[in-house]
Amino acid sequence: MLSLGIAEGHQIPLIHEVHSDDEHLLNTIDGEWFEILYHFRWEDYRQFAADYYNALYDFNQLPAQATAQSDVNPETKEEARQRLLFGRATAPRPVEPPAPILYQGEVVEPKTPEVKPSEVAPGVVPLRLVGRKPKCFFGLLKGFIGVSLIGFPAEPQQVHLLLKSNPAFARVCGFSLKEKDRADYHYQQVPSLRKLEQFDQIMTEAGIWERIKHSEVKTNLATGVIQPERELVGDTTHYHAYSSFETVRYEDDKGNEQKKSQSKPTKNCRCADWEHCPHEWVLRDEGAGTIVKSGKKMIWGHKASIIGLPEQGIAIDAIAVADAATHDGQTFFPHVEKVLAEHPDLAQSIQRVLYDSACDDAALKQRFEQELGLELKASFNPRRSKAITEGLPRGMAKITPYGVPICLAGHEMDYQGIRYATETFIYRAPQGDDGLSVCIGCRERPQCCNRSSASGRTITVSFDTLKHIDAGDPPMAKRFKAIMTRRPAVERMIKRLKCDLGDDRLSKRGNDSFQAYLDKTMISYHLLIRHLH
Ligand SMILES: [Zn+2]
Repeated sequence: MLSLGIAEGHQIPLIHEVHSDDEHLLNTIDGEWFEILYHFRWEDYRQFAADYYNALYDFNQLPAQATAQSDVNPETKEEARQRLLFGRATAPRPVEPPAPILYQGEVVEPKTPEVKPSEVAPGVVPLRLVGRKPKCFFGLLKGFIGVSLIGFPAEPQQVHLLLKSNPAFARVCGFSLKEKDRADYHYQQVPSLRKLEQFDQIMTEAGIWERIKHSEVKTNLATGVIQPERELVGDTTHYHAYSSFETVRYEDDKGNEQKKSQSKPTKNCRCADWEHCPHEWVLRDEGAGTIVKSGKKMIWGHKASIIGLPEQGIAIDAIAVADAATHDGQTFFPHVEKVLAEHPDLAQSIQRVLYDSACDDAALKQRFEQELGLELKASFNPRRSKAITEGLPRGMAKITPYGVPICLAGHEMDYQGIRYATETFIYRAPQGDDGLSVCIGCRERPQCCNRSSASGRTITVSFDTLKHIDAGDPPMAKRFKAIMTRRPAVERMIKRLKCDLGDDRLSKRGNDSFQAYLDKTMISYHLLIRHLH
């Protein structure tokens, strides 16, 4: 903490005052958050601090409300509903140019970037900001990171609650609780909820959360905290939206009435008469949509695409999907493209990408191969639910949609390989615990392998019988299975981000807030990975 006797804004040697109970806390507080905040390398964040103060300056200069050009917006609420529906990434008809699949933030560039990184440090805020001395960027940043490390969502309410209720937390962030005899404002006091909200908003609009996230991942890759791998794994996950939906009816190309869930239209102005005021109708919770889970369960939420490294189990990026109703098969390609462009060093080592059955699509595999030079391996999607029961080899009861024959005695046949000359898949009866074929002593022998040897029954199944299986990449093969065992690593990454460092219930609306939430969580996640390295 800095001595209060120093002239305002003067750059002074930074004295790190050690509190004896900080030392004590370092040894006693359960969890990494205190150590990470205590040893926080603020020097690495000076550029972001300068960017923040510049954006804060512009923010304070902005007029309270932008005014629209015309007098009246002739669009009715119902017209707005239809326009918004047909503008979505999952619109009933494709739009030209196509709506982007992934969220693309519009960063507000500072108009007059004057603050320089060398002018800022914890407790030292730039001079040009007149009026009340602003709250320290470093303290505010640590507040948001700390809250996530403790396991709460990195949102202003939670930061405020923790700063107010946990003196050790407030102090390690660089704030002091209000002294009893001080009624007036002081920049080192715990910020108000409104100030925390303003900080979060400026960081979001200026794109600083995203840039810090990017920098944390880059640092971890450059310093060897994260090792290069040959594969990337991806998946999507949902977060519950902080909004409700309405069902919009529309006419499809054939003139039939259809229905689709959509966020309600609203206006961002405070006019009394929305029907006649000049402002534009927008979606109240842009990006929210209906997500269909297994078992036809529907969730009104936001969707994020997560990409990571399967061997180390580390998430590299998390991005908001522009429209949560978008199918998973469409989100992976643009996200991989983005991650490889942002991390060229990583791109050099990546040869293969893994996904679940949503990406089991020949055209998509070809696109990955041709445009990115990557092999896409996806869990097998049989696209049929019924087993095959006709035209089976002797002794077989059925073949599952996944290409596994099951014999009359209930044993699953082991896949052996392909006989290309006859265009057949080869299977053999498995071995029991005693190492002998299960066929020996089987009661079904008369109907099955009466004449076969002690090695047990061998069968062949023609490619034609299993038309839905790609003979060039059969999912029954050991190699396929070995590769796909690495895919669920992404589910552990998602659990870390969603449960350990936050919450899957959002408290804000819109894709910009959702992306900022993902970025804040990823910042804490990568600081934690570095700390545990
Ligand atoms: Zn208005």
